[in-house]
Amino acid sequence: MKTIAFLFLATCLLGCSDFADQEHFYVDPRLSEAVTAFFKEAENRGIPVQKDMLSVVIGPCSTSGRCEKTNNTAKITINESFFRSGSPDPIALQYMVYHEFGHYMGREHNDSFSIMNPNTYAGVYHNDAAQREALIDELFKFQ
Ligand SMILES: [Zn+2]
Repeated sequence: MKTIAFLFLATCLLGCSDFADQEHFYVDPRLSEAVTAFFKEAENRGIPVQKDMLSVVIGPCSTSGRCEKTNNTAKITINESFFRSGSPDPIALQYMVYHEFGHYMGREHNDSFSIMNPNTYAGVYHNDAAQREALIDELFKFQ
């Protein structure tokens, strides 16, 4: 009986978590470029962003993305529909990932010049490098 309980626990520990490493930080390889870029932007601006107990995954989602926080873990999900037709546009994907990381940092939606303004500035972000830089500045300026 003890063995069965142990096996159940071991299976659950292995199966219930996305984390395989000591840092408890998991990123789907298809998102790693955008996630790495996000942490670089944060670092460049001197903003510390916690990575521990965070997973960034691709999955089913009722919106383009989602950020869920529980007691001490967080999960960012990017809608799998982005990947249905192969590789998504990297800048469009970056916009989505940065928006969800905005939520992760505690930001809500707004209606101003912001990545947190849902979809309104996706085109600007995509097509204008200078505006994109200003939008990324804004993302970190709230602190
Ligand atoms: Zn949002």
